[in-house]
Amino acid sequence: MSKLAIKGGTPDFEAQYLSNSTPSLCWPVYTGEDENAILSVLRGRKMSGTDITKQFEKAYAEYVGAEHVLGYCSGTASLHAAMWACGVGAGDEVIAPSLTYWATCTAALSLGATLNFADIDPETLCLDPDDIEHRICDRTRAIIVVHYMGHPADMDAIMAIARKHNVKVIEDASHSHGSLYKGRMTGAIGDIAGQSMMTGKSFALGEAGVVITNNRNLYERCISYGHYERTGVANNFNSSERYITDPELVKFAGIPMGGRKDRMNQWCSALGMVQLKYFAERVRGIEEAMQYLADEMDKLPGLKVHRPAKESGLTKGAWYSPTCHYAPEELDGLPVSKFIEAMQAENMPIFSLGNFPLHQHTVFHEADLFNQGQPTALAFGQRDVRQGKGALPVSEITPSRTFRYSRFTKLDKPLIDRYVGCMKKVIDNRGELLK
Ligand SMILES: *Cc1c(COP(=O)(O)O)cnc(C)c1O
Repeated sequence: MSKLAIKGGTPDFEAQYLSNSTPSLCWPVYTGEDENAILSVLRGRKMSGTDITKQFEKAYAEYVGAEHVLGYCSGTASLHAAMWACGVGAGDEVIAPSLTYWATCTAALSLGATLNFADIDPETLCLDPDDIEHRICDRTRAIIVVHYMGHPADMDAIMAIARKHNVKVIEDASHSHGSLYKGRMTGAIGDIAGQSMMTGKSFALGEAGVVITNNRNLYERCISYGHYERTGVANNFNSSERYITDPELVKFAGIPMGGRKDRMNQWCSALGMVQLKYFAERVRGIEEAMQYLADEMDKLPGLKVHRPAKESGLTKGAWYSPTCHYAPEELDGLPVSKFIEAMQAENMPIFSLGNFPLHQHTVFHEADLFNQGQPTALAFGQRDVRQGKGALPVSEITPSRTFRYSRFTKLDKPLIDRYVGCMKKVIDNRGELLK
């Protein structure tokens, strides 16, 4: 058994070997076709228009199987608009997972609402349907669902709770490009979805995002909030195109109600058209490679890859930031931080989860966005739902029971076997690490 690099042995991999320079790990994939699409926008001086964005929206709506897609300058902006469209306002409450990126839910504060965070399921790492209902009150407007690291959330159970209480479901599909829930594309299942397409995401266009919905009214509300040029009447931009038909919204046409300008830069839209052409095929390559890798990793003690059961009808799409469950009790108590440290010494790109529970962050306890001399989380509401340490046990313990690893885009068995072999070496030598 070769010596661990962290104990002075030679690393299993050369520095930087397992990076984007290795073809079976390279992501996102861009070719000359992508470059030409961007150049044509530049040469046509069309960066700020909407004609290419509208083509992209149509193509993307077809891909996800939804009626309406609206382009945004970021995923954060799309989620903000989705919340407003669902009626989230001052004094309201929004239920969301705590273990996620802040943009899932933080914009609720700027609408004067507060967060009531729910715990997650320890296997799926998505909202636990059993921790939602007791949090709903007459001020609850929306449940935000994150398909965490591409794993679809339990949508049937969550939709049933939401329907029963007349609360909207907003999907944050920023991790789940290409992920299927019982044959349907995530993002097209709830009332509305916000989705990021920034460079780090699986469908990577730069700084961009979309709203996805089958609900015409929510779509029109999003347009009136931040897409001034499509409000349809009372301006010179789109007078012949009736994007807004709802008379309540038409009377505000011409100026976005949210005072926002949220549209997508057309460099991103043009890139999106090209990326979309190849995305399904690339997702198939990722799925094949990652399932093989997961089967191999699951043979090792203490590890269990975060993925849906094979016959479930659920998939992880493009496997955003692959994540593995880690059970220290099966590894003589070796903390995940020590495991990660030893793997990194072998030049393996293995990292901690990266997200930490939001419910303990001061923004949700103290931030005073409206200069009222009191936290926004309290300013308009009828009750204090701020949560402290211990409130959400699964969310709080998960960072110490998970790690993230590489996404292979092609089934490169020799390299994947070496990759797993390195994990095995560290696990077999755990006695050395515990000394
Ligand atoms: C990246 C991300 C966002 C925000 O998207 P941006 O495009 O960066 O604004 C929202 N939610 C989740 C879960 C994300 O990972």
